[in-house]
Amino acid sequence: MMNEKDLFSKCSTDEGYFGQFRAIGDRYYTMPLMESIPGKIMRYGGKDCLMWSINNYLGLAENEEIKKTASEALDEWGVSGPMGSRMMSGNTAFHEELEQSLADFSQKQSSILFNFGYLGVLGTVASLTGPNDVIVIDKLDHASIIDAAFGAVSGRRQVHTFRHNNMNNLESVLKSVNANRKAGVLIITEGVYGMTGDLAKLKDICELKERYDARLFIDDAHGVGVMGQDGRGTGEFFGVQDKIDIYFGTFAKAFASIGGFSSSSKDVVEWIRYNARSQVFAKSLPMVYIKSLKKTLELVRNGHERRKKMFDIAAKLSSGLKGLGYYVGKVESPIVPVIIPDGTNNTAMEWIRYLREKGIFVSAVVYPVIPRGFAMFRMIPTASHNEEDVEKTVNAFKDLRDDKNLTLTVKADEIARLYGGSEV
Ligand code: PMP
Repeated sequence: MMNEKDLFSKCSTDEGYFGQFRAIGDRYYTMPLMESIPGKIMRYGGKDCLMWSINNYLGLAENEEIKKTASEALDEWGVSGPMGSRMMSGNTAFHEELEQSLADFSQKQSSILFNFGYLGVLGTVASLTGPNDVIVIDKLDHASIIDAAFGAVSGRRQVHTFRHNNMNNLESVLKSVNANRKAGVLIITEGVYGMTGDLAKLKDICELKERYDARLFIDDAHGVGVMGQDGRGTGEFFGVQDKIDIYFGTFAKAFASIGGFSSSSKDVVEWIRYNARSQVFAKSLPMVYIKSLKKTLELVRNGHERRKKMFDIAAKLSSGLKGLGYYVGKVESPIVPVIIPDGTNNTAMEWIRYLREKGIFVSAVVYPVIPRGFAMFRMIPTASHNEEDVEKTVNAFKDLRDDKNLTLTVKADEIARLYGGSEV
């Protein structure tokens, strides 16, 4: 029984995020216990599985050079050094040097490091906006952007949303915002949409932000290292990097590490450095990460072969699955979103179990992350996969289709609903 006056009473119910899984102590669909280091083969449930569910885009999680650099830094600096926040005693020339390399990489004047991407989005947005400023976000933007925009750390902001990648809708939002504008306007979108894998229409967004005199923050968590000739991200891919006011990336995906960074002009970065509470009041990144990230950045910058291989695998996986009749959303980034109708939480879990028993590890995205009635397997091809892996996976999906009698046809209006009202 819930006792409204006791904060803890909800904890013994199945309320809250994924409450049904929490209530049964699940460690299969949620919080699965992985038994090996990250890579394309991962041990899970006592069995080796082909992994399609980690954002190890360039295959750097397994990289020996990076591990070696990290262990040298560990020998010298221990697990924590330097200690304290950057402001007090946690800054070093190595941190600043890495920031300058990241700034050069993202073709901006300056950069600032964050301990987590999530806190980087929060800190950057919160430090630059106040109660009179307006934040305009895409409906499919990541939780960190939603939390930043709605003032999770900094008090309420004025927030407007627009339908996913719908430029007419964005323009009408900007028009109405400008009609009674009192202060600044910040547009925030992802570069590569992490859930659906499609790209923000960055050329149009840049044009609109100029026409309506707004600033633009691009969270390119899934694009940095992945998109563009030199892996500089979605801005490079569209040739608009110079129009992006703040370019943001995390190290948790293609860089296979932890942390993130915002790049912008020198003044803006210095403002963020002194005002982003999520970093000002947190300990600085340990040297193990700083030194290994320097190596990683070099590998990312020279990662042309890796990017080519990753995109190649993505194309093969998507055409193999399409050949079986599966609906695969746009594959503009390496992410291959396989969308299956009639996916309730229960059926999606059954399909996941079926695939895992065949040694294929995928994760499903279901309601409330996407509308009811679908399941989405968001598959992440990496530079570590090969054609044999694709073949094995496609065969498992064929068996899944046949053994579970899957309906595969997705109607256009249902897809529009999934993508927040805009065409895929
Ligand atoms: N932004 C986006 C678009 C993301 O997908 C993520 C990670 N899921 C983050 C921010 C947060 O990054 P991190 O995991 O480095 O905290």
